[in-house]
Parts: sequence; C-alpha cells; structure tokens
Amino acid sequence: MPANAPVIQVALPRPLRRTFDYAPPEDGPVPMPGARVRVPFGNSSVVGLVTGTSTTSAHELKPVEQTLDAEALLPEDLVDLAHWLAGYYHHPVGDVIKTLLPVKARRGARAVQTEETVWRPVAQVADAEALLRRAPKQRAAFDRLGHLGEVADAELAAHGIDRQAAAALAAKGLVDRIPIAPTYQPRASTIEPTPDQATAVAAIVESLGSATTHLLEGVTGSGKTEVYMRVIAEVLVSGRQALVLVPEIALTPQTTARFTERFGAAATLHSVMTDTQRFDTWLKCASGLHKVLIGTRSAVLTPFADLGVIIVDEEHDGSFKQYEGLRYSARDVAVKRGQALSIPVVLGSATPSLETFENARRGRYRRLRLPERVADTSLPVYRVVDIRGEKLDGGLGAQLQRAISRHLAAGDQVLVFINRRGYAPVLLCSHCAWQAQCDHCDVKLTFHRTPRQLRCHHCGWRRPPPLQCPECGSRELVVVGAGTQRAEETLAARHPDVPLYRIDRDTTRSARRLEASLAAVANGGPAILVGTQMLAKGHHLPGVTLVAVLDADGGFLSPDFRAPERTAQLIVQVAGRAGRGEKPGEVWVQTYDPENPNLRALIESGYAGFADTERTRRAAAFLPPFASLAVVLAESPRESAGMAFLNEVADVLNGDGVELLGPASAPIARRADRYRSQLLLLAHRRRDLHAALDRLDAVDPRRSGVRWSIDVDPLDTS
Ligand code: ADP
Ligand code: ZN
Ligand code: ZN
Repeated sequence: MPANAPVIQVALPRPLRRTFDYAPPEDGPVPMPGARVRVPFGNSSVVGLVTGTSTTSAHELKPVEQTLDAEALLPEDLVDLAHWLAGYYHHPVGDVIKTLLPVKARRGARAVQTEETVWRPVAQVADAEALLRRAPKQRAAFDRLGHLGEVADAELAAHGIDRQAAAALAAKGLVDRIPIAPTYQPRASTIEPTPDQATAVAAIVESLGSATTHLLEGVTGSGKTEVYMRVIAEVLVSGRQALVLVPEIALTPQTTARFTERFGAAATLHSVMTDTQRFDTWLKCASGLHKVLIGTRSAVLTPFADLGVIIVDEEHDGSFKQYEGLRYSARDVAVKRGQALSIPVVLGSATPSLETFENARRGRYRRLRLPERVADTSLPVYRVVDIRGEKLDGGLGAQLQRAISRHLAAGDQVLVFINRRGYAPVLLCSHCAWQAQCDHCDVKLTFHRTPRQLRCHHCGWRRPPPLQCPECGSRELVVVGAGTQRAEETLAARHPDVPLYRIDRDTTRSARRLEASLAAVANGGPAILVGTQMLAKGHHLPGVTLVAVLDADGGFLSPDFRAPERTAQLIVQVAGRAGRGEKPGEVWVQTYDPENPNLRALIESGYAGFADTERTRRAAAFLPPFASLAVVLAESPRESAGMAFLNEVADVLNGDGVELLGPASAPIARRADRYRSQLLLLAHRRRDLHAALDRLDAVDPRRSGVRWSIDVDPLDTS
C-alpha cells in the first residue's frame, strides 16, 4: 500500500471495543465516514460502518469489498454520538452502531425511501367503456375509485380495491398513481394558553438555536402537551424538525392523535412496526421529509436533516432506559444530542426524577413550572386509609368499598390501582408455611385464577397449582394478598351492573384492546377500571372521580434504593387520572404504615416535598444523584464462577476516587437458572468512575460460563 493512502476505520457488529482498519476498495472511491461497507472479516464478509479515516497503519490491510452507500447513511453527528455512547456506557463501538442502525440497514438493504402514493381516476377517457369491457374486477375498482375520488396506496385493501386491478387500470391510462409527501400543515390552536403556559413557551422558544435544557415541571393535567405543540409549531415555521420521546406509544394512542391533528402529519417509531416501516421512517427523518417524529426510547438515535428541538415527555419514566446490550438512557442521550446540535431539550414531567431535579437545582437545567391544572379543574385531594387489623376483601377495605359505591351511585367512574397482576402473589400452606416458589428463580410464584396456574413473573415458567402441600401433604393451601384478578372478582361481585375493565399485561396484549376499553370508559356513565401501572400512563379520563391505591407500602419498602422514588411517581401519576373533568377528584391510599415518612411527605407536601426528603436521604447515603454509580453484573449457571469473575473485576476497578460495594448476590440471586452477582461502583466525580471503568476495557470480554455487563447510571439494581 502506498504511503499516505487512506486507512478506513470500520465498526463491525462484534462485541469488541475497537474499530478495524481496511484499505480503500480496489475499484471505486474511498467510502465516506457514515457509509456502510462490506468487508472481509475472518472467513466471512460483514457489513460494517465507516467511522473515520486516517493515513497510516502499521499493518498490511485488506481492501474494502464493497461500498454500500455513496453518501453517508449515518450523518456525522450520529457517528460522533456513537463514539460518545461507546465511551460513556463502556460498550463496544460496533455494537453501538448496530443499535443505531435499523435492522434492514444492518443487513445491507438499499437506502431508498418508499414513496407514498395515491390512486386517482383520470377524469375523461374517451374509450373507458371499451377498455373495461370483459374486465369486471377492473370495472369494480374503477367505479370504487371514481366514487371515492382518490385512495392512498396503503388504504386500497381497506376500501376493497384489488391492487392488481388498480395497476392494470394505471397501465391502461384510466387511473393515475401520484406520489405524495406527508403534509405538515400546522393548525392554529383553539386553546388560549394560561399565563404559565405562555411563559414556558416563550422561554423555550427564546432558547431555540441554543443548547439549553429545560425542566418543564407541570402537575398532571397542567397542559404540558399544549406547551410542546406550541414550541414545535415555532420550530416548523423555521423549517426545522422536532423529536418527541414518549414512554409508550401503544399505551397512549391519544398523544399521537393530538399531534397528527395539530400538525397535519406526524411520524411514529415504536416497537410494533415492521423492519421495512422502521427503516423507511428512519430514512425520511434523515432526508427531512418527516418534520415531526414521535417515538419511544430508540427514536432518540434517529438521524435528522435539521433537528430543532427534542422533547422528552414523562422524563422520569423507566422505559427510557435500555436494560440490555447498550444500556443507555434515552433522556440523557437526548440532553447530550441537544448539546451537540445546539438545540433546546425539554424534559417534561409531573414527577421529575431526582437526577433532573438536582440538575435544575445546580443551574444546569432551566426550571419552568406549571403548578396548576388548566381549565378550572383542581388537583385531587388525598386521603390516607389505615388498614391495620382490617380484613380486606380482594385487597379492598370496608371504608374504601363504601367510597367506591358512593362514587358509582353518583354516576361517576372509579379507578382501582394495584401494581400486581394475577390473583394473589403467594400460595401458602396454612399447616407448615410452605410457599410456592419458582423452580428456576429465587422468587415466589404468582397465583393466577384465569387460567388456573402458578406463574413466575420473572422467567415465565408456569405450572398447575398443587392440590396438596409438597412439604407436609396438607390440603389446606391458601392464597395470600391480592392482585388485579382478585380485586376484579370482588368488585364484579359487588357491582354486577357496572361495566368493569381490567387493564394489565394479561388482559391487554394489544393496544387496540386498551384503546377500546379506554374509549368505552370515556363515553361516560359509571364504570370501574382495575389495573396495574398501565393505567398511570397519561390517559385523559374525565369521568374518573375516585382513584384508589390499594397497596402503597410494597414499593416504599423494597430494597432497591430507587423504589421510594418510583413508588411516589406512580402514586402521583395514577392519582393524576382523578378529577380531570367537571367534578373534583379524590385519591384514597390504603396503607399498613400510615406514618411512613415517604408517604407522609408525599401526601402533605406533594411530589416536590417528597423529592426534598428523598434528596436528603440520598445525599446522606452517598447515592445518586450525589454519587455516580455503575454496576457490573455477572450471571452464571454456577454461583462461584460469577463471584470469582467479579472479584477479579474488583481488583481492576479499585483505585483513586472510587468506592466498591460487593461483589455480592443480586437482590434476586437466581433468575432463569442463572446465578446473579453484582459489584457496585460509586464515585464522587464522574471522571473517576470512567477512569476505573476504562481499566476494565482491558479485561477479555469472553469468559467461559459467565455472562457479564456494565450498566452506567443503572435504574434497577435488583
Ligand atoms: P398534561 O400533559 O400536563 O397532563 P395535557 O396537555 O394532556 O396535560 O392537558 C390536559 C387537557 O387540558 C387537554 O385536554 C388539553 O387540551 C387541555 N388544555 C391544555 N391547555 C389548556 C388551556 N390553556 N386551556 C384550556 N384547556 C387546555
Ligand atoms: Zn405444608
Ligand atoms: Zn422464574
């Protein structure tokens, strides 16, 4: 190879913390950074991505076999982001690229956008009759199109039009197939913003074009979405694009509908799309055809031609964190992207995470507030119900039962929240106290009534319930505690004439089903909703006047240090479904521990008061956001192998400015037949944490019998 010939650095989808060097292809130009190439690797040929070029290499290099993209597929800012992600999350760069690219792109599919088209009959064709003679299918299609005026390609089937017939009509010149672009036509809002909304919009709009992160702290029903939409309207006027990250699209079809209505169009990216649809949407954002993208976690990694703002709705939500592979936080990546692109990022929530609060407090984020609900609705009133010594029925105490009856009799709706699916969390022998456990995990099995089964909620294992105790042979097996099925059973028996909807992962596999239930409830009239946290997700249910939280204690007592925060957020979010209509709302919280300081702070001084208490505790305990945290998790069929590996890791990590906790068994010590051990790494200064983790890069990632991972800023340490 001649001196100074370019060296092509290529990231390959392999779990290796480095890129690989290649010589330019023998024929054709040097591929651009961001382009895909096919290169020889081992005995095969692999699709990789060019991350950069240099001019010298110590090795004799093999040439690139084929350049797949004449121009960059991944724009420069995303190639830079990939390097940052690899460094920050200590993850192999090739695997980061793999996460960034849609499946089709990884497999080498051509990067061409599909054009959306409409079929439209040609107005006057003299010999139409003759052309349609003896072609009944074409005639039917022609008549149908004539009747409808025009039909989008994707809707042909829905209108009963045969595609082949339509194509034949086009070939005969009777029908035109016309390409169309999505029409972004922002409509003026009919809503008069409140002074707080107007202030927030003005502050964000003023920051357009600069790297400012805003915390939009707005109570439930304060009109945060209206603020987002007004900001986006300004961004569109300047010809730029907007990205809106939401926790779950499938659970909140209302959100997408509102954006589409306001802007004429809005693209979505979420998990229930085909690979082809995903790649197409991705390309259309990259080319600038799509102006507004609403997406879940991974949408933060989408390329844009000219992004103007990023909005992260419900920024506290755990679904923004990826729990496998590249363990990134989409919220934090959004902030990083905003800085890199010099655009504002808006983090919206009624219950901001302690991290975000702390960033606001230290002046890194600007704090904007919407402390009141819009449109004459007030926040619901809380009521703590002491259930010590009480006999519950389906998880419900007598007082709460009466309150439910009262609300239903008044023609109102009731939402019962219990964050546990199934019938009961424990099956117990009343003779010897044996409890049904999973054979493969160190957790109890949940009893399900329909169908009658014991199920593991961690690994999916299931078995029929035993008829007698496997330990002592007693037939007196009892179920203890209540899940959604049991609460549903009790409520259905007491209110046989009231429509009841159970919303949990067992009943609501499909988004359509949830949408149908919510639509039925929105129609009004007395109704009962029983469900898990799926009910906390931003739904607007104006008929709900009573929200009941059956078991607030479980979450506050869990060993995970983030559990109190998560529990407080859930309670406030689910409470936020109450009183969004004309009538005020009440929230009843049942507890065995009415003096719990977390609960008291939450009830007496709201989420911000809770966050203050929790902040003090975290500071004293040297936990995030007052320390940087990473966890190294090892899983192995043999307990000793994982521990031995983590002891080795601990030696490598040990150094200045870091504190190690463990290695020790994870709170759930065995899951799906794998023993789990973890090592926690804490540091005052983030750079010390990274310096320690950098030393781990030298450890060979392949370990016989041990699967291990690094999680920087973990959300879940169980
Ligand atoms: P949040 O996202 O803060 O919970 P939403 O944006 O969903 O609140 O707003 C709740 C409801 O209030 C929506 O139906 C919305 O259209 C309406 N709304 C928002 N802003 C105003 C306003 N300024 N005046 C009247 N209604 C409003
Ligand atoms: Zn027994
Ligand atoms: Zn299990």
